[in-house]
Amino acid sequence: MTNPLLEPHFFPPFAAIDAAQVVPAITQLLADNRRRLTELLADPPAGWALVAELEAMEDRLNNAWSPVSHMNAVVNSDALREAYNGAQPLLTAYYTEYGQNRALFEAFQALAGSADYPGLSVEQRQVVDNALRDFRLSGVALEGEAKQRYGVIRQRLSELSTRFSENVLDATHAWSKTLPDAAALAGLPDSALAAARQAAEKQGDSGYRVTLEFPSYLAVMTHAEDRTLREEVYTAFATRASDQGPHAGQWDNRALIDETLALRHELAQLLGFGDYAAYSLATKMAESAAQVEDFLRDLARRSRPMAQQEYAELGAFACQRDGLAELAAWDLSFYAELLKQQRYQVSQEQLRAYFPANRVLGGLFRIVERLFGIQVSEQAAEGLWHPDARLYRIEQDGATLGYFYLDPYARAHKRGGAWMDVCRARRRTLEGTLQLPVAYLVCNFNPPVGAQPALLTHTEVTTLFHEFGHGLHHLLTEVESAGVSGIAGVAWDAVELPSQFLENWCWEPEGLALISGHVDSGEPLPDELLQRLLRARNFQSGMMMVRQLEFSLFDLLLHRDYQPSPATDVQALLERVRGDVAVFSPPAFNRFQCSFSHIFAGGYAAGYYSYKWAELLSADAFARFEEEGVFNPATGAAFRAEILAKGGSRDAMALFVAFRGRKPRPDALLRHAGITRQQGATP
Ligand SMILES: [Zn+2]
Repeated sequence: MTNPLLEPHFFPPFAAIDAAQVVPAITQLLADNRRRLTELLADPPAGWALVAELEAMEDRLNNAWSPVSHMNAVVNSDALREAYNGAQPLLTAYYTEYGQNRALFEAFQALAGSADYPGLSVEQRQVVDNALRDFRLSGVALEGEAKQRYGVIRQRLSELSTRFSENVLDATHAWSKTLPDAAALAGLPDSALAAARQAAEKQGDSGYRVTLEFPSYLAVMTHAEDRTLREEVYTAFATRASDQGPHAGQWDNRALIDETLALRHELAQLLGFGDYAAYSLATKMAESAAQVEDFLRDLARRSRPMAQQEYAELGAFACQRDGLAELAAWDLSFYAELLKQQRYQVSQEQLRAYFPANRVLGGLFRIVERLFGIQVSEQAAEGLWHPDARLYRIEQDGATLGYFYLDPYARAHKRGGAWMDVCRARRRTLEGTLQLPVAYLVCNFNPPVGAQPALLTHTEVTTLFHEFGHGLHHLLTEVESAGVSGIAGVAWDAVELPSQFLENWCWEPEGLALISGHVDSGEPLPDELLQRLLRARNFQSGMMMVRQLEFSLFDLLLHRDYQPSPATDVQALLERVRGDVAVFSPPAFNRFQCSFSHIFAGGYAAGYYSYKWAELLSADAFARFEEEGVFNPATGAAFRAEILAKGGSRDAMALFVAFRGRKPRPDALLRHAGITRQQGATP
């Protein structure tokens, strides 16, 4: 019997994939690749030919693995999970070995120093430069003791990161409170009450169980009328994995944080960087920690007055409603929600009737057609992984540019959230043909009920546009080297530019007219509802801004200014940052840093600022459309040519400057957030 994962297919044979064939196929492909790599390194082909061979090996592996990894996420089963978990360590070992391959590193060095290098195309040179950079960052250039120490540090950092998230998880699970009746949770919406009821039942209890899982925590903070309960839940949540609160000292992450920072600092210095922030920024668009600090402090300076005003308003509202003398940390979300409802009376549920899924999708395709001159049409496809999945083709003037799969609805055995993933990369093959790009777009919208079409909230519409923006970045690329084609090779802090950028059309009256239509009457979103939606968008945006800036600046300074002896006092640094940017000081027992998993157990160390950075880029890029017309096809063509088409083949800042004609400025971000005045608005 043949193994479909080993056959060349442009459209993966999803339905024909048998989980039992996964590990054998990956094992064979890895063995083939290792054999081929040994052959190549014995006598490396000159010039680009070496890289082209490596790319072909990688592409064959990706084409087998991508549908498996995709199906594991969207139609999970015991057999698929077992196959996935069986193949994953084989792949990890292979890539670790590849990144540590000294002979391969030297072959790239030889290519970069050869007479062939200047003759390579811009994108090819970028592939070579990225490879050399990544080899260096993975320690392959180190010798002797330094190399050994590097390995020890890496190993320990990985253990520390795992321990950190285990502690957060254990501390989160350790605390709960069961309340005898619904009256104790007065204020909570029915859905949150039902969830609390279910959580108690699961434990074999009667009553309602509140936990520190985020949805439960958030529901209490936002809706519970009982202030003492809010204080208790807040205290447990804000002291997880620390020396404070109900489980003080039990899963304390503070020593892990200190050790992590010390080792990161040492690792950066081993690799020739002054500090860990410089190491982290080596693969990012931002040029230096000083540049990022200026960016964050400038935003803080400009947003803080509005945040202070919002905070004062909130305090006045709480005083007026309940006679509160002072807002505590556990009052903020609660009164914010009440104030928001009083002011705007706009609910996502109410908006659903205006956003039937097919109408939204059709409108989205019209929008990108007007912006970029491309047509999107559904393609007949057989053998997909689920009846809800669809295949679409993107074309221009009859020429196919790429394809994407859309899997829109939530169901059992499908991972939550929304994402875009790469199925095929656009690349020139060894045979000289062009492989077109293919993407997966996955969402988790409410499915259609009976004869009624699926109805989306405005938040879900925004999510669809976001993922479609990532999709266009992958699909409209004109690059022919897989390493920098589409989203490949794009800097971490720039990759959210196209996705956040496309979201803007969900907030434009002209865009909304194309994507909305009442499910019964077909009538577009009424102006009155639209205005309330637009005004609610910026509710407390100043406070939200300074909160994100506090996290970003804390993360940046912690990794840039770290001193090994005496070791930097993390708590003191956090308090200093709060003094600089926050409008509200949390209670002294707050140990936010002990559960800041993004930077201590995720990939965001000295990179948390990326969220704001990409937001600034997308707002500033969109501002050119505001200046020249939101559907101006020439502006659309420029964005496509300078940003979408070039993918990771050029420095992200150079691409931005090519599109915008100058470096990014924060004005549009502040204006969109309502922090500075709208253009043309009366004071
Ligand atoms: Zn995204």
